[in-house]
Amino acid sequence: MPAFDVDRLHDLLDAVPVGRWVRYADLASAVGTAGQGLGSHFKACTECEHVWRVLHGQGRLSSDFVRNHPTDRRTQLEALADDGIRFRDGLADPSQQISVAELVAVADREPDPTDLLRMTPVRREQRRLRRQLLGDATDAACFLCGRVLPVELLVAAHIVPRHRVDEAQRRDPEAVFPACVLGCDALFELGYIGVDEAGRVTRLGTAPSAAVAVAVDALHGREVPGLTPGRARRFAEHRTPDDTH
Ligand SMILES: [Zn+2]
Ligand SMILES: [Zn+2]
Repeated sequence: MPAFDVDRLHDLLDAVPVGRWVRYADLASAVGTAGQGLGSHFKACTECEHVWRVLHGQGRLSSDFVRNHPTDRRTQLEALADDGIRFRDGLADPSQQISVAELVAVADREPDPTDLLRMTPVRREQRRLRRQLLGDATDAACFLCGRVLPVELLVAAHIVPRHRVDEAQRRDPEAVFPACVLGCDALFELGYIGVDEAGRVTRLGTAPSAAVAVAVDALHGREVPGLTPGRARRFAEHRTPDDTH
C-alpha cells in the first residue's frame, strides 16, 4: 500500500454526492499520492465508497475499472448513468464536476441532523477503529469465537455501549474489539454474552430462546486473546446492566 492518507481519501470519497464526479489527479494530490497510487488502492480496498465517481483527465472513464464490491457488478458507465452523469464525446459533463475544495468543505463540515440520520459520523468512526484494529489485513480472528474470517465479516465492537461513553472513548482502540457479524457482535451487544475477569467468554442473563442458548453455550468458557487492563475494565462495565435506559 502506498503511504498516503487513506482515512482522508475515504472521507473525501464519501463526500462526492450523487450526480457529481471528481478528477483522479485532484483527489490524489489532496491525499498525498499520484493518480496511479489511487488506482491500485481502489482495486484492493473494500472501504472506498462510490469509486466510479472518480474520472481521468477532463472526465474520461477508467479503461480498467474494477470495483471491489461483493454485489455491485455495474460497469463504471452504468453506475454513472444511474447517478445522472451526462456524457458527450466520451467525456463527463464538466458542469457536473466537483472540485476538491468543495469536497473538503463537505467532508469537514460539522455534522448536521441529516448526517446523523445517515449515520455518516458513526460510519467514519467505525472505519477508523477497524483500521486501527485490523490494519490492512484481509483476514483476522474474531475476539470472541476465534474464527479467522475475511475482515468484511468483522466489526469494531464497542465494549461499553457507544451511547454510554464520551467522544474520546469512542475513538480509543482499547474500547473496542474485533467481533464477527456471524453472531458474536449481536450476542455481545444484546448482553447475552460478556467477558469475565479471567478473560473467558461468559453467559450473561437468560437467553430468550433455545436457539440463542445454543449459540451462547458454544461460546461460553472460551478464552479470549490478550485481555489488556483497559479492555478488562470495560468488560467489567459491560457486565453491569445499563440502568440509565
Ligand atoms: Zn479505500
Ligand atoms: Zn465471532
